[in-house]
Amino acid sequence: MTSAKKLSSKRRVILKLSGEALREAGSKDNISPEIVDRMACEVKAAMDTGKVELGVVVGGGNFWRGASASARGMDRATADYVGMLATVMNALALQGALEEKGVPTIVQSAIEMKNVAETFIRRKASRQLANGHVVIFAAGTGSPFFSTDTTAALRASEMGADQVLKATMVDGVYDSDPKKNPDAKRYDRVSFQECISRQLQVMDSTAFSLCMDNKIPIIVFDLEKPGNVTAALLGEDIGTVVDSGDA
Ligand code: UDP
Repeated sequence: MTSAKKLSSKRRVILKLSGEALREAGSKDNISPEIVDRMACEVKAAMDTGKVELGVVVGGGNFWRGASASARGMDRATADYVGMLATVMNALALQGALEEKGVPTIVQSAIEMKNVAETFIRRKASRQLANGHVVIFAAGTGSPFFSTDTTAALRASEMGADQVLKATMVDGVYDSDPKKNPDAKRYDRVSFQECISRQLQVMDSTAFSLCMDNKIPIIVFDLEKPGNVTAALLGEDIGTVVDSGDA
């Protein structure tokens, strides 16, 4: 059967938003309604052009990270399930803000949670994307020992996405940590191979391998600069492109 994706000429992208991105720096609140609202405005501006199909993978690090809890003695798998549930809270907050602005949005959860979200079904998600809905993928992969970066790479592979957009707090990929090295050099474009050999922290290694194997470019960009989320969704030239390096 022809996939929903093949019927459309729109760009199909998966935006990875970390949980931390939804928290106001220094605030005790895990989610900032103002930041969520700004994200929703930027997404709406891109969706209104009719040029993009958007899936969003939200993290949960503003509430909880399984690895940190495990390092403090908690069973890792249990801690990871807590982390996955945290992502659902972020997904609902984002959905609320998008719907308030009239952007049709569906949350699909990898862990069944019928009262608040649909359960993830790949083909349904793909159809919803083609129908112009923003699909928010919640609860990660549904399995412990993974991250939401890996979820973004996995959903991008499953949905036949053109790109993964990795929204971060820095404006791209550098050859060393720009916070520690004032001479760090920023790449406009860098290959998967160079990221591996130089051990550049783009995404975690599982996520990175999935994107590399499935030839899905990753765009790393600064989400704090106003307008950048819209620009990234519309394929404008911002941040660093990580790809196979072919001409
Ligand atoms: N998590 C998981 N499996 C997944 C995705 C996430 O177990 O497929 C858990 C893991 O504990 C992780 C937490 O959910 O620490 C929150 O996700 P992540 O750390 O990726 O969020 P972010 O750093 O992007 O906010």
